[in-house]
Amino acid sequence: MQEGLLIGGRWEQAERRFPVNNKYSGETIAEVSEASLDDVGAALSAAELAAPVMAKLTCFERSQILLKTVELLRSRKEEIEKLISLESGKAVKFSRVEVDRACDTFTYAAEEAKRVHGETVPLDASASGRGYFGFWVRRPLGVVVAITPFNFPLNLVAHKLAPAIAAGNATVLKPAELTPLTGALLCELLIEAGLPDGAINLIQGPGETVGDALVRDRRVAKITFTGSPDTARIITSHAGLKRVTLELGNTGPVIVSEDADLDLVASKCALGAFYNSGQVCVSVQRIYAVPSVIEELTERFVEKTKQLVVGDPLDDATDVGPMIQQQEAERIEQWVCEAKQSGAKALTGDRREGSVYWPTILRDVNASMKVMRNEVFAPVASILPCDNFDEALTQADQTDYGLQASVFTRDIDRMLNAIERLNFGGIIVNDTPNFRADHMPYGGNRISGIGREGLRYAIEEMTNIQMVAIRRGS
Ligand code: NAD
Repeated sequence: MQEGLLIGGRWEQAERRFPVNNKYSGETIAEVSEASLDDVGAALSAAELAAPVMAKLTCFERSQILLKTVELLRSRKEEIEKLISLESGKAVKFSRVEVDRACDTFTYAAEEAKRVHGETVPLDASASGRGYFGFWVRRPLGVVVAITPFNFPLNLVAHKLAPAIAAGNATVLKPAELTPLTGALLCELLIEAGLPDGAINLIQGPGETVGDALVRDRRVAKITFTGSPDTARIITSHAGLKRVTLELGNTGPVIVSEDADLDLVASKCALGAFYNSGQVCVSVQRIYAVPSVIEELTERFVEKTKQLVVGDPLDDATDVGPMIQQQEAERIEQWVCEAKQSGAKALTGDRREGSVYWPTILRDVNASMKVMRNEVFAPVASILPCDNFDEALTQADQTDYGLQASVFTRDIDRMLNAIERLNFGGIIVNDTPNFRADHMPYGGNRISGIGREGLRYAIEEMTNIQMVAIRRGS
């Protein structure tokens, strides 16, 4: 287990350390080095030195490093799955999916590394352009800072490091302090895969101190951040003139029309609302159903949810493990309690033991309750009646967020209406907002973010367009 900091290709131990615990048993599994501000400075200097080295690698060489990383990830798959489950509390069956997806992410990046190119521009389309030949190319930005959340400690780190490498940048990574170990292991594999010294640096510690120092530093060309809107607001206010990509939260709406396959909706929602204890940015949170289906859908949804196995994430049978911290389970318990005091009813769940919160379905909620208005980021979903499909679209769109929304219908007009009316970065039809293939453009509107990830799109955001205009001699 890698407990140090990675600076300029060397693993360093810091004097200060912080514990990482098994999120189910609470037992300490590692003591990780906490970076000082000097370490942050050293990591950025190392990245600054490595940036021109990265820019000079051929795209073939960058692609080979990314492919080698996939090979190494596969060779240590079981160990990585276990580590994800231990430090994040994710059920191991879903940690397996995360490792597979990270392999996909690096594979797509290896492919995209060979497609980072520009195009010609017909400069003679301008009155003053006669005799000029124009084209643009993409250039790496230099130093990229990647700040990541706890809920996908491997694949969300991969979504930042893989495109940064494909684009020819050097990176400093700061993983979430609750889940620092998987990101550290990935850095180890990148070095083993042949990434030059300093092209990946790892800084560990609290966001408010070491994260903030990274964000403020003038050597940084770009910050790529995944986390909460509150943190994103602080980052943008401290970043100054740097590029940012922000991947933030959601209040996952699902709209169910009268022609939907209710068994499919119930199974998809039971998974989409509760896996990883609902700590997924595109988790199912608000389900709007038309009157003719709501009773039957509710019954099936409750039935499927009751079948979920809650317990030790390392057990193969477990569907839902603990939340990341007991205080998070207490927070959602309090939100549900407040909703009940205002008239909501819990149809299942509504039970907490330590950091485990049982999958909970609410009805009789209203738009002013926290469980509706805020991102729940917990295993709680609400089901609401809507007069008709149109009304459901209106209500689903009444949110500050805008990451992904979903509709279940077989009717093409309803699908097209939903696409037009919902102000979300992604619209998923006949699946939940959780659907994500790692190469697709992914990101939020409104307070759900700025920019898009998905390898091709992340690479675009990690490169500058450089225009070239050549005037012919005569
Ligand atoms: P968080 O915002 O608390 O922390 C994310 C990261 O930011 C951590 O590494 C943290 O140390 C760092 N950080 C905190 N304060 C900082 C500061 N002042 N300066 C710099 N860095 C700082 O988020 P979290 O609790 O780890 O994750 C949950 C949130 O992430 C949810 O809102 C969820 O929706 C969102 N999320 C979004 C996506 C997406 O792709 N859109 C994916 C996963 C999670």
